[in-house]
Amino acid sequence: MPQTKRIITILGATGSIGQSTLDVVAQHPELYSVFAVSGASQIDKLLEIGQQFQPKIIVVLDEVRAKQVRDGLQALALDIEVQVGEQALIDIAIAPEVDTVMASIVGAAGMPATLAAAQAGKRVLLANKETLVLAGQIFMDVVSQSGAQLLPIDSEHNAIYQSLPIGFREQPYGSSFVEAGIEKLLLTASGGPFRSHTLAQLEQITPAQAIKHPNWSMGKKISVDSASLMNKGLEVIEAHWLFNAPIDRIDVVVHPQSVIHSMVQYCDGSVMAQLGSPDMRTPIAYGLAYPERISAGVKLLDLFAIARLDFEAPDHQRFPCLGLAYAAIREGGAAPAILNAANEVAVAAFLAEQIRFTQIPQLIESTLMAKAGLASGSLDELLAADHQARTHAQALVAKWRTAIAC
Ligand code: NDP
Ligand code: MG
Repeated sequence: MPQTKRIITILGATGSIGQSTLDVVAQHPELYSVFAVSGASQIDKLLEIGQQFQPKIIVVLDEVRAKQVRDGLQALALDIEVQVGEQALIDIAIAPEVDTVMASIVGAAGMPATLAAAQAGKRVLLANKETLVLAGQIFMDVVSQSGAQLLPIDSEHNAIYQSLPIGFREQPYGSSFVEAGIEKLLLTASGGPFRSHTLAQLEQITPAQAIKHPNWSMGKKISVDSASLMNKGLEVIEAHWLFNAPIDRIDVVVHPQSVIHSMVQYCDGSVMAQLGSPDMRTPIAYGLAYPERISAGVKLLDLFAIARLDFEAPDHQRFPCLGLAYAAIREGGAAPAILNAANEVAVAAFLAEQIRFTQIPQLIESTLMAKAGLASGSLDELLAADHQARTHAQALVAKWRTAIAC
């Protein structure tokens, strides 16, 4: 059991990962306390967190919501400071009181505060995979230079982390993948809710169907990403950066039961895997307590009840997003940032019923083609590429909507 009490900031505390983190924290009040939390729209949840965990600071994005939170806190007689805006997110990520930051904001919006936490040398529990897709090289360089401790929370990457040799997983840039005897990373994918759908059926998917994942309970954006297999594409890029892994050595294996969370294949023929119930509290508890173990409130795996584990290859024809992600990271430069930005626009447009599910990959591909070759040397250049890709993708959405309306 860990000895010292950890002081935590939770970026995106009102979301699915944020709430699971608070659940684990609540099980171990002697080990963890919450210094600061952030949320965007869910004021009620922020007030509940205020009551239960009594953080010092709550951050929201705008003054209107800040007033709602302040009024709510006053009615509850809670003395919690409310701060506003992106700089406040960075401030709570780098606060000297804090040693651990859960990075669980969704999308590229989470990148600046996550990067700041790494720069400040914190233990970073990384759920926000978009940070690595947008600025993987820069983020990993910052982690190496600052001495931050990076622990992957995404279940696949957490499984790989657990299955890698300790020296390599803690210093993946200190030795090469091949020198460590690793042949391949095998990223498992549930295949999402439409694994067996035909192309014609995929045309008709509604947002309500897409956000209902068969095995995992998650936020809307990642649920749609899981349904399109873009989530797995983003995870290939995430694994590339986290584990210094050549792209050709990262394979995706569809495994509908979501019991094996991912595997590492070694040159001696061994395959190491991490198994468990599909519950994000397991990787969160692992990250919080590393290198110790704590209970997470997760149902222990019953292999007799599961009875069988199936594996199949992904279907790139029906799910083109996965191939687009492989192509973007192979191309390098700003391509992954463009892919990510176009995907965020596409998912938002699909959830708003402005484009069809099958138009998500079309929108991303068109944006990647239109914006190929943008500069990517600095963070500012990557952010400019992100911005340009969003503008282009939004214009396409508007054009396609008009076409549908006609
Ligand atoms: P949710 O949508 O459930 O939560 C997102 C959080 O970010 C909420 O707290 C939300 O606030 C906040 N937020 C939304 N937009 C902004 C913004 N523009 N600026 C600042 N904060 C914002 O997402 P998840 O918890 O599902 O996912 C979070 C991250 O973790 C994603 O990157 C996802 O890919 C990754 N992840 C999630 C997994 C899961 O099981 N859910 C598994 C693996 C990775 P509010 O709700 O108050 O509006
Ligand atoms: Mg995952």
